[in-house]
Amino acid sequence: MSNNVPVSVLGLGDMGKALASALLASGRPTTVWNRTAAKGDELVARGALRAGTVEAAVTAGPVVIVCLLDHDSVLETLEPVAGKLAGRTVVNLTTGTPAQAEELSAWVTGHGADFLAGGIMAIPQTVATPDAFFLYSGQERVFEAYRETFEVLGEAKYLGPDTGLASLYDLAMLSAMNLMFEGFHLAVAMATSARGKAGTAAGFTDMLVRWLVNMAGVLPAFAAEVDAERESGTEPRLVQTLDLQIAAMANMADASRAAGVDPAHLELCLSKLKDLLAQGHVVAGAPTAVRQLRIGGDLPSARVRAGS
Ligand code: NDP
Repeated sequence: MSNNVPVSVLGLGDMGKALASALLASGRPTTVWNRTAAKGDELVARGALRAGTVEAAVTAGPVVIVCLLDHDSVLETLEPVAGKLAGRTVVNLTTGTPAQAEELSAWVTGHGADFLAGGIMAIPQTVATPDAFFLYSGQERVFEAYRETFEVLGEAKYLGPDTGLASLYDLAMLSAMNLMFEGFHLAVAMATSARGKAGTAAGFTDMLVRWLVNMAGVLPAFAAEVDAERESGTEPRLVQTLDLQIAAMANMADASRAAGVDPAHLELCLSKLKDLLAQGHVVAGAPTAVRQLRIGGDLPSARVRAGS
């Protein structure tokens, strides 16, 4: 497919603007539409074509990239132009659930268009930089047809034909990110409590980032254990007994409470570890923790307390 494939972008919020800007900078004819038209002024001044209606945007070229607030706003925007979609490709980069991606895919393809679901692993400032990567799932033929265009936005990773997969991975990564932020808030609240008030959040965070980056380095080993469904195959130094984990978690919860910081998150972790101990586990690494999270899933019986 030519590098000059015309692209339409529906949605010029912070992210949509960044996407359209990158496409425009790559030399592709770029048509833009936004509910609040003025948000397109800067792009139009740089050479983007303004579509006054959704229909004008959808019919301007073969590829329509959608980046709106949520699933409902996507349906609301596309439904009135359903009859104009045939023969085009709709790429939805709006964050949504796998079920929403499947619903939209069925609806779009039912109107004779191709569909690809995407997830944006970037913020507006990192679009079109080496830090950005985008997840895609759905028909491989469609991904390959426009891969070069997708690469303009950031590294394009095709996950497979299951339309919901990009959403699943996207939301899994956002879940990890948000829990990390929650951990950061907790840690900063503890570190800047009465006892830590001589220091600053910034000074503490210098150390925290160093620690978290180091700890992120062990995740591939944990993942290998999850894949092998086996605890501590390759990295014995990562293994901690449940007794040790429980003692450490209890210390964290006590110190948090004593610092006047809500220990609820830590107490939840502590109670999950105690549940595992009560079930006879001695060691609970990533495979056990992952299984414990699965609703209705069985916990592995390996490495249970001797004699139980
Ligand atoms: P913004 O809030 O900046 O923009 C929202 C966009 O949706 C605007 O264009 C807005 O139009 C439009 N919109 C909202 N409701 C409707 C509606 N009912 N009908 C038509 N248009 C509507 O959000 P972002 O641009 O930041 O995010 C867009 C998508 O990108 C989201 O799904 C977000 O999760 C995803 N994303 C964003 C990231 C970020 O860092 N910003 C990172 C990764 C993904 P109007 O201007 O008229 O209000």
